[in-house]
Amino acid sequence: MEKTTRALTCIVCPRGCQMQVTLEDGVPVSVCGNICPRGKTYAEAECTHPVRTLTSTIRLQDGRILPVKTNGAIPKHLLFDAMDIVGGLHPAAPVALGQVILQNLLDTGVDVVATADAE
Ligand code: SF4
Repeated sequence: MEKTTRALTCIVCPRGCQMQVTLEDGVPVSVCGNICPRGKTYAEAECTHPVRTLTSTIRLQDGRILPVKTNGAIPKHLLFDAMDIVGGLHPAAPVALGQVILQNLLDTGVDVVATADAE
């Protein structure tokens, strides 16, 4: 059985707890340094299936910039491919806050949505 440790900074809240995760054969078996249970949940997920919410901006057809984000977290290893796809989106105005700009990004089941209105 291979035992390893991994240092992580919790990104769940601004406190940024410094955590130490002990893994046995890649499986988290203990977490320390977290002040609340959310840190443990984050650390275990980060070591087994890291995900991120993507936030970005896109350019509308008229040249204006529109902020967007995914409406859920996507696997971290897909972030660069996702950014390439999102960067190629150029919808026409008007766009409403919360409007889906792209469905099912990279077959993740997560959509790209507008985070602002553009009249
Ligand atoms: S462990 Fe809890 S208190 Fe610490 S950064 Fe994470 S969410 Fe915040």
